[in-house]
Amino acid sequence: MTTVAERYANGDYSDDMNTDSKDEIGILSRALQTMSTSLKNQIEIADTANRSKSIFLANMSHEIRTPINAILGFDEMILRESNEDTTKEYAANIKNGGRILLTLVNEILDFSKIESGKLEIVPVEYEISPLISDILDMIEFRATEKNLSVDYIIDRDLPSVLKGDDIRVREILTNLLTNAVKYTEKGGVTLSIQKLSSDEKKATLRISVEDTGIGIKDEDRGHLWESFQRLDEQHNRGIEGTGLGLAITHKYVEMMGGTLCLNSKYGQGSEFWFDLEQDIVDPTPIGLFKREAQSLQREVDIYREGFTAPDAHVLVVDDVKVNLMVVKGLLKDSGIDIDTAESGAEAIEKMKENRYDIVFLDHMMPEMDGVETLSRIQADPDIDSGSIPIIALTANAITGVEKMYREHGFADYLSKPVDPHSLESILLKYLPDELIIPAKK
Ligand code: ADP
Repeated sequence: MTTVAERYANGDYSDDMNTDSKDEIGILSRALQTMSTSLKNQIEIADTANRSKSIFLANMSHEIRTPINAILGFDEMILRESNEDTTKEYAANIKNGGRILLTLVNEILDFSKIESGKLEIVPVEYEISPLISDILDMIEFRATEKNLSVDYIIDRDLPSVLKGDDIRVREILTNLLTNAVKYTEKGGVTLSIQKLSSDEKKATLRISVEDTGIGIKDEDRGHLWESFQRLDEQHNRGIEGTGLGLAITHKYVEMMGGTLCLNSKYGQGSEFWFDLEQDIVDPTPIGLFKREAQSLQREVDIYREGFTAPDAHVLVVDDVKVNLMVVKGLLKDSGIDIDTAESGAEAIEKMKENRYDIVFLDHMMPEMDGVETLSRIQADPDIDSGSIPIIALTANAITGVEKMYREHGFADYLSKPVDPHSLESILLKYLPDELIIPAKK
């Protein structure tokens, strides 16, 4: 026996209706079918347009980041080498401007990724204390410039190791704290992380960022999470931003199962908060929160600035000459012997002739790109590729690239514009210990 619904779906209205009704339903059903086909076509057109947009954004990111790489790279050399205070001050301003430009490009890219549904939450195990320390280090630096205080209230009962997307958690906190500092002139900001509840497997944390800044008007609340929406333009003129930060943050919190909420009094300050549920890996409470990681980080930074490796042999491959000059310039004081190649083919030739300790290989190159070059290197019997760490150099800043590069067989990746610290830490990580000579203090 078929049900009435099944019969109707098959266009069989035989027993229940008179002829007029049947005709009408027939017409309606055909109209519906036409609409559904047209809708499917529209969706396909929209999907294709969306894909083109993603490709366009990836290319644009490459195009914009490549010149910024040159600007910031050479600027770093001026900062290191100039003895003139005024020149150094100009260079510091260029560095600041370049960083803001990079943040803007990255925000636009992340947002487009969210829009096209390509952003995934990737849960990994992470320790909560070092994460909080890093975030506080970052924000303290910005807050001090504005004479603002940074306070933190961290629950002693937080489980020490959790599982969740630590990269997104960092981005959320960075965004909220950066805004808190940006929109506050007097007073300070407070980060608070409390454990609301937990069982054996999961813990719910309440995370809040509070400031004593300009606050948000009641009538503006409705627009807060909208993209490209900046509020109170009159007050906020001169504060750089795209109006994307909160839209992205709001979406991330939502993707992790929470809701970003706001308490605010115009003229007095704001508090953004949300609840975050994470899996527990190690339930041991962190105890009294100490910012040990900060001093550790500083030591590493000082150490990093002073190492040489004159016996190390490194190959850098990039089709843009100026990028090769930037890496060479940044490593000038390390004494490392650096060879360069301007194409995949040239890189393969050089690797046949020489033994390198590390190879930095650009991804987007004309003719043979980095991924293809790598697979040819791996297949070449004259190259002992298994023993050489090959690092992808990429101006493609879209999140999630790390996984993609590892899947292709790269040991790691370094994003352009090359950050001098990241470059040095990759060298320290992959160069054999015996080649590294720490500078005398
Ligand atoms: P923007 O790049 O402009 O900072 P956001 O999306 O991060 O963009 O924020 C959107 C708007 O919300 C800001 O332009 C600002 O008007 C307002 N806003 C965000 N955070 C705060 C805050 N802590 N205090 C006051 N206003 C804020």
